Amino acid sequence: VALMALSGCSTRTDSSGGGDASAAAGFAADSLIGVALPSKTSENWVLAGGLFEDGLKEAGFKGDVQYAGASTTVKDQQDQISAMVTKGAKVIIIGAADGGQLGTQVKAAHDAGAIVIAYDRLILNTADLDYYVAYDNFNVGELQGQALLDGLAAKKPAGPYNIELFSGSSDDANSAVFFNGAMSVLQPKIDDGTLVVGSGQTDIKQTATAGWKAENAQSRMDALLTSTYGDKTVDGVLSPNDTLARAVITSVKAAGKDIPVVTGQDSEAESVKSIMAGEQYSTINKDTRVLVAQAIDMVKVLQKGDTPEVNDTKSYDNGKKVVPAFLLPPVIVTKDNAGEAYANDPKLSPLTK
Ligand code: BGC
Repeated sequence: VALMALSGCSTRTDSSGGGDASAAAGFAADSLIGVALPSKTSENWVLAGGLFEDGLKEAGFKGDVQYAGASTTVKDQQDQISAMVTKGAKVIIIGAADGGQLGTQVKAAHDAGAIVIAYDRLILNTADLDYYVAYDNFNVGELQGQALLDGLAAKKPAGPYNIELFSGSSDDANSAVFFNGAMSVLQPKIDDGTLVVGSGQTDIKQTATAGWKAENAQSRMDALLTSTYGDKTVDGVLSPNDTLARAVITSVKAAGKDIPVVTGQDSEAESVKSIMAGEQYSTINKDTRVLVAQAIDMVKVLQKGDTPEVNDTKSYDNGKKVVPAFLLPPVIVTKDNAGEAYANDPKLSPLTK
């Protein structure tokens, strides 16, 4: 996975496209559009499915929205994409269940003339992927790292602070990008002794959370508390998303310890409540409505035979090509700015009052 070398991607503009999609001819306005999503490991995936159904219908397309199951995720998704190709989908939008296991299906889609868009998660090791649409994942990590530092400084004026690090599922290409973004901020502070990773587990392999599952993060936190924090306080925890943040908090509470500064991502309702209650420290707002709308806009442009706008043509090398990407800017949210951050969100806004 290529690292995002630059942040603040929203300022980078390159409207020349760069996709090698054979879009010139366009396709019928009522064509079938496939959307293959991973299993529902976080609220954003649940939201995305409904938004794709409604948005594609409203735009006049026939939508075919599928989720991978909870256990046989990779095989499910491979079969779902193959079925979309057989049914003649003109565009296939994929939130990968396992970014490294879809090369065969993406090639088959491309060979059949479909345009393939990776949604939220990059698809690796295939030259047949046309576009990527996502929030700037490296910046998500940077914002999480900075939030952890800010939360710690607000809690006690000076270090050293004891922290632990969690990362996402290793089959999701985003996990390394989030982690690397966060470590770009945290590593210098570990090196200068401000931060101490009590367990010594700083490698992404040691910190990974298989399947992005809450129970896996909770049991790792339980184990860390027992092995490392018998008579010590854990001041902060880098958590890559809200589901895992709440699992960490559950573990700490069960152990009868003070809740550390815990980061998150996704603005899940339960985490927004937790932030307002002073438990979880931060989350990230990556408005799913905006990301889905962006993906559907790309489909509309492709339907006309035009080339969709991208704003990044250098950051996301998937091992076979640099994938032209449209990246949206993520927003860090703490108790301080939650009201403002969710002002336009009818579901979250009431939670901040
Ligand atoms: C998404 C996150 C999400 C995680 C688990 C990632 O690929 O970018 O928003 O929390 O998957 O579902």
